[in-house]
Amino acid sequence: MKRISHWINGSIVAGTSGNVGKVFNPATGTQSAEVDFASVSEVDAAVAAAKAALPAWRATNLSRRAEIMFNIRNLVQANRNEIAQMLSAEHGKVISDALGEIARGLENIEFACGIPNLLKGGYSEQASAGVDVYSIKQPLGVVAGITPFNFPAMVPMWMFANAIACGNTFILKPSEKDPSVALFLADLLKQAGVPDGVFNVINGDKVSVDALLNNPDVSAVSFVGSTPIARYIYETGTKNGKRVQALGGAKNHMLVLPDADLDMAADAAVSAAYGSAGERCMAISVLLAVDSVADALIEKVKERIPNIKVGPASDSANEMGPLITAEHRDKVAGYLAGAAAEGATVVVDGRENAPTGGFFLNPSIIDGVKPGMRCYDEEIFGPVLTVMTFETEKEAIQIANNSVYGLAAAIWTSNLSRAHKVSRKLKAGTVWVNCYEEGDMTVPFGGMKRSGNGRDKSIHALEKYLEMKTTWIQL
Ligand code: NAD
Repeated sequence: MKRISHWINGSIVAGTSGNVGKVFNPATGTQSAEVDFASVSEVDAAVAAAKAALPAWRATNLSRRAEIMFNIRNLVQANRNEIAQMLSAEHGKVISDALGEIARGLENIEFACGIPNLLKGGYSEQASAGVDVYSIKQPLGVVAGITPFNFPAMVPMWMFANAIACGNTFILKPSEKDPSVALFLADLLKQAGVPDGVFNVINGDKVSVDALLNNPDVSAVSFVGSTPIARYIYETGTKNGKRVQALGGAKNHMLVLPDADLDMAADAAVSAAYGSAGERCMAISVLLAVDSVADALIEKVKERIPNIKVGPASDSANEMGPLITAEHRDKVAGYLAGAAAEGATVVVDGRENAPTGGFFLNPSIIDGVKPGMRCYDEEIFGPVLTVMTFETEKEAIQIANNSVYGLAAAIWTSNLSRAHKVSRKLKAGTVWVNCYEEGDMTVPFGGMKRSGNGRDKSIHALEKYLEMKTTWIQL
């Protein structure tokens, strides 16, 4: 059985805690590996390695750091097919989705290649009589990243690229469900010239997360995952004096107004709800349609569902893979099983004819959904589109804003003035109008309310890894 261990101070380090987790191939349902779960002392050893590497790394000049980031970029690009296969074998997503994830992750590394420019400070001459002032951006120290299962390449790349380019040293705690990509990346970083100890990987569960949160030498924690764990990380980390950014879950609403192009809206709803089997924080999970178009829109989504080929990534014709674990598949199926008792209607039941042999569930639709129902209040994180209706625009905004989540929303309308007005009122970190999933490195990414604090991507992503220092000089 393949054993997945830790990466500390530039080498693979076998776990000694005796605690292990099982890693599955979700497309076959078979166990593919065992992953070591770190003990507190193993986490402390990784932190000690990161701390020891810090003085030399933060003193490394910016052009050398940029050169290393370019090397990482080239190595990830050259190895993207191997990474995609590895990622798919543990996560289940189809290869085109895995390659798309890697491409989105690479944008973060490319962004960090510009670190000499991004870290430029400011200088004012004669700020007061005979006094100049300058401000600079300094690294924080040892920082940790704790990442979810659904983007095992991209989310670590969001974090480590900026963190180390800023001069910090880094400890990654990837999801225990698909940990192989993190170790592969660690090896690429070493080949790229990242000095030993600058990038470390600790595999594990709550024990290792708590050890990171409690270690006084960890200055900052960046987390991406579910809302309950995000709250725990935020509360524990800040209580221990760390800077914490914790991005949580989502329940993204797509508002379809009376003047929307229904075919375009249906295309977007299908791809946004079922892409990557709905295991995406940016997935649309609530189709919020004005009464007058709701039935027609549901019909259009229903017509499109049979065209989605569900199956293992080994067949390149497949577009949607399995869910991550049997437990998660059963949990998602439970929302379909419980819908009728809550007064909703399962219009398309993904439990029917789902491929066997892995953790598959076909695309599903639940109609007649209302706040208070489990399938509305909870994040489903699977290929289930819930449908709600509204009569007035004001009501639609209220419904979306009453959700405890606020990561993203979409508006479909042919009236762009109306779209701007609605967008301003929506409490969501990202709003798309007549499109979905557009994103690049110039704009911040993150959520409001229980979807978390802080931002990734863009210049704002650097803030969590930097201290601003001001120096006044009497000349
Ligand atoms: P998760 O919260 O279960 O796990 C995330 C990380 O936390 C993992 O590394 C895990 O090992 C660790 N963890 C789990 N339980 C813990 C505990 N009790 N104490 C300490 N650490 C713990 O999330 P997941 O299921 O891996 O990922 C899916 C979630 O991530 C969804 O809610 C999704 O919306 C969210 N997500 C959000 C974004 C975003 O940008 N906001 C992006 C991707 C995923």
